[in-house]
Amino acid sequence: MQITFWGVRGSIPTPGPATVQIGGNTSCVEVRAGKAILIFDGGTGLRLLGKKLAKEAPLTAHMFFSHVHWDHIQGFPFFEPAFVKGNVFHLYGGNNVSRTLEETLEGQMDHPNFPVHLGVMGATMTFADLPEGQAVEIDDGAGGKVRVTNARGNHPQGVYAFRVEYAGKAIVYATDTEHYEGRIDEKLTALAKDAAVLIYDSQYTPEEYNSKKGWGHSTFEEGAKLAKLAGAKKLVLYHHDPMQNDAAVREKEKRAKAVFPDVIAAHEGLVLDV
Ligand SMILES: [Zn+2]
Ligand SMILES: [Zn+2]
Repeated sequence: MQITFWGVRGSIPTPGPATVQIGGNTSCVEVRAGKAILIFDGGTGLRLLGKKLAKEAPLTAHMFFSHVHWDHIQGFPFFEPAFVKGNVFHLYGGNNVSRTLEETLEGQMDHPNFPVHLGVMGATMTFADLPEGQAVEIDDGAGGKVRVTNARGNHPQGVYAFRVEYAGKAIVYATDTEHYEGRIDEKLTALAKDAAVLIYDSQYTPEEYNSKKGWGHSTFEEGAKLAKLAGAKKLVLYHHDPMQNDAAVREKEKRAKAVFPDVIAAHEGLVLDV
């Protein structure tokens, strides 16, 4: 498998000279498993991924939305391949919100918020709201299967974390989730068991977290605890706080290394081969 990070920022895009190394686009991660294309979240990083995918049309891709807060859907109206007839997108959300994934993505593009309605995008789209624990199996284009399972995290209005299994390896995408005090999230520990890569909400330093309790985000320290308990090999710090400039993210990464050696802070353009 190969993972490419297109947007690594949490909450709101943060362009500007202070964030050019890490990047300012919001959540979007591409995973290739055989010939299968999987996309996790549609934050503003999705626009850039779309530029790349435009060259691969006609294509079929599977898009998994952890939840529908703005920083996870705002790139979708600017996702060029979704406007191209012949492309096929299978979109998966959670059953944990008051509206379905389709209604939410449509609502974002309703007048007067956006000039073009979702219904006139040219690609074929299917929508599925997944019950917790329901696995999705995807053809790898070479006679094999990619398996995606999910578990709920801890976030206002709910969130799903996803595990991708392919060719004996596993990747876990766990963004926008707050750790619990005094115990490590059992569901996420099970989901991340023996994962080659754990992508985890590390929005805050422990000091920043103190004034942000209940906001639905976690720290690199809690990510390290979870990775150790689950037996995950590599930890990727993800969903950086908009207040953190490049130096602050690098400092966070340095501190994380002291508690979990195989760690990296996600930045735009980062590619990991698994
Ligand atoms: Zn977020
Ligand atoms: Zn969120």
